[in-house]
Amino acid sequence: TTEIYYDDDADVSTLDDETVAVLGYGSQGHAHALNLHESGVDVIVGLREGSASRDAAEADGLTVATPDEAAKQAGYISVLVPDTVQASVYENAIEPNLEAGDTLQFAHGLNIHYGQIEPPEGVDVSMVAPKSPGHLVRRNYENDEGTPGLLAVYQDTTGDAEERALAYAKAIGCTRAGVIETTFQEEVESDLFGEQAVLCGGVTSLVKHGYETLVDAGYSPEIAYFECLNELKLIVDLMYEGGHAEMWDSVSDTAEYGGLSRGDRIVDEHVRENMEETLEEIQNGEFTREWILENQAGRPSYTQLRQAEKNHEIEEVGARLRDLFAWAEEEDTEDEEDDSV
Ligand code: NDP
Ligand code: MG
Ligand code: MG
Repeated sequence: TTEIYYDDDADVSTLDDETVAVLGYGSQGHAHALNLHESGVDVIVGLREGSASRDAAEADGLTVATPDEAAKQAGYISVLVPDTVQASVYENAIEPNLEAGDTLQFAHGLNIHYGQIEPPEGVDVSMVAPKSPGHLVRRNYENDEGTPGLLAVYQDTTGDAEERALAYAKAIGCTRAGVIETTFQEEVESDLFGEQAVLCGGVTSLVKHGYETLVDAGYSPEIAYFECLNELKLIVDLMYEGGHAEMWDSVSDTAEYGGLSRGDRIVDEHVRENMEETLEEIQNGEFTREWILENQAGRPSYTQLRQAEKNHEIEEVGARLRDLFAWAEEEDTEDEEDDSV
């Protein structure tokens, strides 16, 4: 069975004689740095000179230095810059400052798992990954609530890697909710698969195909938008609260029979085969190689895909409807820009 850790399993004082460098002050970085600081941990934030987030970290009362200087001063380095720049930040600012016994920590295992960062022997390599956007990690902490997280140890040379990572997880509020033990491989591969096949890629394609099918058959775009996109939230809320069962219980018998009898026709064996192929590309490193090359080339396909998505008719219809109706205004928009998956 899966190991889950809570507050009683962790001791923040494990980090008493330690300085923790938090590199990056974006979604995760600001939350980790502030929560660690308020939990009594000695924190130094590592940011480039003249950057926007440097001003923010200083305004929040934190000690700030360059990534290089922060890594030098700290024995515990938390890498919270975007995944696509981690390898270069590692090479320039971290690697030269690593000493035996140091801890190198991530919130996502991409660069370690796919060999973009190869830490030397003698340092601990761990992961504390809150399963939530950074702004919620911060808000939950301030409200004495927790954020569920994952913990993994990739390399343990001190023998204390797990204990130290748990102390960090407690200091940012994760053990209040529960921390699940995993591996870098499992975290990365399942995270990539989830966001590609189901959460981000799968769901938007499902919505677009549904919308297009209705509109192409002559139904009004507004009705198609409500049926295929807007109502999705209500359905997902029910699933989130009580699984599929609560959702099926709450919809009409007609919806339940129609959904149960037609669902597997829509998302059929062919889709399942595509999912398996997508998973294979993740497991054999093909997807990550493609993504690295895409970045090195200046993101040509990414830019094109983004533009096409923005230009889809459903976006224009949605923007218009959200302006006309009141529901969107009541929502808290603060977390919308986070990459929470
Ligand atoms: P962000 O995109 O929010 O990070 C931006 C920060 O990184 C800014 O402070 C920026 O500073 C700094 N930065 C960017 N480039 C550089 C550079 N070359 N050198 C130094 N600093 C740089 O990252 P996230 O918080 O989204 O992600 C951080 C890690 O957390 C990733 O590994 C991600 O996978 C993981 N994660 C993210 C989640 C999320 O909700 N976002 C959830 C769980 C894990 P500047 O102002 O100088 O640009
Ligand atoms: Mg209906
Ligand atoms: Mg992800």
